[in-house]
Amino acid sequence: MFTLFHALIFGAHVLYFRVSKTPKGGRKPTHSSNTKMKVEDSCYPHFVEAYVLPLEDVQAARDVPFDARGGRAKQAALELKACSEKCPHRSDNLKGGVKPCYVDLLRQIKPAINGAAKALDKGSHTTLEVNNYELRLTAWGDVGVLNDEALEVLTMLQELSGAHLSYTADSDVLKRSGLKAQVSVTSLEAALEADSQGLKVYMSGSEEEKQAFRMLAKSPVYRCPVSAPSAQAMGCTTCPLRCNGLRHVLSP
Ligand code: SF4
Repeated sequence: MFTLFHALIFGAHVLYFRVSKTPKGGRKPTHSSNTKMKVEDSCYPHFVEAYVLPLEDVQAARDVPFDARGGRAKQAALELKACSEKCPHRSDNLKGGVKPCYVDLLRQIKPAINGAAKALDKGSHTTLEVNNYELRLTAWGDVGVLNDEALEVLTMLQELSGAHLSYTADSDVLKRSGLKAQVSVTSLEAALEADSQGLKVYMSGSEEEKQAFRMLAKSPVYRCPVSAPSAQAMGCTTCPLRCNGLRHVLSP
């Protein structure tokens, strides 16, 4: 057993952990930022979702709660502080039909910033059992912007978890830490570069490029089954592929 504090400050960032309880036989998750996860189906009693948040915005929210006024422009400013400059979904990188980040300012980022502010004030925490929780890295923000100390904490959390789902847009972070994660890519070129470095990708983008990657990759390439009719009841928590940095996955 160990204690996980829900908000930890590392340099210019806050690592914020939202911890869902997944009651046995359980129907509703206490919360999740992504319905594809199907947290309620997890076989672990706790589901831990990590956010990487800008410290200055969390500190400001300790005085005045963060609000989502400013919409897309506000989110773009936050992305510059919390997301990898390599992420093709970051507002300043959008090109060639790549979609903006799917994470919603109002429903996901705002509650995370205000939740982190409260967690810092209260010192809120959860007791976790080794090998008996599931971890998601990250619900928003990229581990690539974190300092080495934060990466050590996340690596330990991965190693102590029963299972994890992990993604980053920054392949370099996987070389400077012990973290394991899918490298999120949207082009054949980026997928092949990660493959040549022995890393595993989560690839979205054109179907042509995905098929080309299937032919050219050095290791097997799988398709995320979450939208297939036979897999409608499936979510990441029960998916046999597991996006945990061990195999290439194509988006549905
Ligand atoms: S392959 Fe499985 S774990 Fe990865 S995103 Fe799809 S459903 Fe989730």
